[in-house]
Amino acid sequence: MSEPTIFERIVDGEIPAEIVHETDTVLAFLDANPLAPGHTLVIPKAPHKRLRDTPPELSADVFDAVRALTPAIENAVDADATTIGINDGPAAGQEVPHLHVHIVPRFEGDGGGPIHAIMDAGTDADSADPGEIAASIVDELE
Ligand code: AMP
Repeated sequence: MSEPTIFERIVDGEIPAEIVHETDTVLAFLDANPLAPGHTLVIPKAPHKRLRDTPPELSADVFDAVRALTPAIENAVDADATTIGINDGPAAGQEVPHLHVHIVPRFEGDGGGPIHAIMDAGTDADSADPGEIAASIVDELE
């Protein structure tokens, strides 16, 4: 058995957190190192590492919570908008191996960028053939 992650320990009540929403299957709490006031993490209580590992009903519960929380958080901190994201896997920057959705309140002129800013350094994505990529994705789904 691997060590429980920090998020499992929050679910178990071993580590304190500023909990803002809880259901039988989902927990939401403030990020300990917030990118903005109100930065919230939404997790399934069950310790699934990535979105692909999470049963569909449970990921639906997570996204239902994200949907309900986003306007509540915006109103609570008087934000103008929200960036919602998942670092889904270590190469994408996932540090805690327990699925979590970041809800980051955004403010006019906050100096942050859009999701496109994660690739500001540029990639060779433009040189790939979009038709081939689309066909491969369609194949994978079959
Ligand atoms: P990620 O890089 O997507 O895995 O994000 C992990 C997030 O968990 C980071 O934003 C951390 O600030 C946050 N975090 C780590 N430990 C805690 C904790 N004990 N309570 C709340 N948030 C935490």
